Amino acid sequence: MMFKQLFDPVSSTYSYLIAADSGETVLIDPVYEQAGRDLALLGEHKLKLVWVLDTHVHADHVTGANALKAATGAQSAVGDGCKASGFDHQLNDGDEIRFGDEVIRIIATPGHTHGSVSYHWRDRVFTGDALLIGGCGRTDFQAGNPNLLYHSITGKLFSLEDEVLVYPGHDYNGRRVSSIGEEKALNPRLAGKSEEEFTAIMNALDLPKPRLIDIAVPANLVGGTA
Ligand code: FE
Repeated sequence: MMFKQLFDPVSSTYSYLIAADSGETVLIDPVYEQAGRDLALLGEHKLKLVWVLDTHVHADHVTGANALKAATGAQSAVGDGCKASGFDHQLNDGDEIRFGDEVIRIIATPGHTHGSVSYHWRDRVFTGDALLIGGCGRTDFQAGNPNLLYHSITGKLFSLEDEVLVYPGHDYNGRRVSSIGEEKALNPRLAGKSEEEFTAIMNALDLPKPRLIDIAVPANLVGGTA
C-alpha cells in the first residue's frame, strides 16, 4: 500500500494518491496543472491509475480528471448531486470504490456544494471542502447550504471514530492533517455550536468571489480540460 498527500501551491489544493498492493491506484482531487507531476509519480512507482475521484465540482481550480483519464485509461467519478456530465460514474451515499484489496466508501456530505462527497478509506476520511482543518467550505454558491453542511458534518463526519484522520481538500496555513476528535473539540465554527449559530457564522462570512470560478466550474462539470 502506498499513500501520498500532494499539494498544488497555486490553489492550495491537496490531492491524494492511494495505491493498493496490486498497484491499482486512486487519485482524489487531482489538479489539472499538476497532471504531469502525478503521471511521473505513477510511472516512478509503476502504479496503474484506475480511478480519479473528485470530492465536488471545484470553483478554484480545474480538475485533472480528464487529463489523467486520457493518459491512463482510468475511470472518473464525482458525487451524483453535482450533475456533472463529464464523469464516467456518479456516486451516492454508501457506494463503494474497490481497487486491489482496498475499499473506499462514499459519504454524501452536501452543503459546500449540493453534490459534495467525502471518501472514507481505512482510518482516513478525505473531506474535500466539507470539513477543513479549523474551518469548512463556504456555502454561498453552487447551491451551497449551511444547514445541509451542518448536518453533513455533525451528523455524518462527526459520527466517525474520533481517531479517524481528516485529510482536507485545501489548507491555506500549511496544516496537513487533523482528526475527527480534534475537529469536534476545536473547530471554531462547529465545536459547541448549534445549527443556528453555525448558519449565522456562514451567512456572515461575506467572502470575495473565487478568482477562477467562471472558468473552473464550467470546465469541471465536464471533467476538466483534456
Ligand atoms: Fe470547493
